[in-house]
Amino acid sequence: MTLSLVPDDVFDNYADVTPAFLRANGVRLLLTDLDYTLAPKSQAEPDEALRAWVETLRDAGVTLRIISNNRSSVRVERFCRSLGIGYVGHAGKPGTRGLLTAMREQGASARETAMLGDKLLTDTLAAKRAGVRMLMVEPKGGPVGAWNHALHAMQEPFKRVSAGDQRRKRRI
Ligand SMILES: [Mg+2]
Repeated sequence: MTLSLVPDDVFDNYADVTPAFLRANGVRLLLTDLDYTLAPKSQAEPDEALRAWVETLRDAGVTLRIISNNRSSVRVERFCRSLGIGYVGHAGKPGTRGLLTAMREQGASARETAMLGDKLLTDTLAAKRAGVRMLMVEPKGGPVGAWNHALHAMQEPFKRVSAGDQRRKRRI
């Protein structure tokens, strides 16, 4: 089996993933990473923009589930309780256990599911292994620290060749 690490779509921000886009692609279950995808790691609570986006998805009948590798469940739990959504913690991405658990719980097929995340070797690889559409975003708040700067620079060529690269402006 050959796995591609090229995301299916690339966005500047999670908020660019709209109900219309998801509907057009048959997605009713959106799995999402937390750190640097929905909020910088330094942000302890969901902000108003995130609440508004979650509400928009809920109104459109899209189910949202956080799939996080976070070692501590405290942060993920606080976010999810506040947003009124479910999560799978210690998900072990790039393993597929977390994604498949959420899909099974929601009765959603791979075709009806998409994964949203900022990292290639965890989020994207997990999505590809589970056979679901991968929506990649730029790191929320920008890359933090030397390692993340290097990592995101390495990820850029994969994003750039995505057929669904929808970023309007390139970051420098
Ligand atoms: Mg992340």
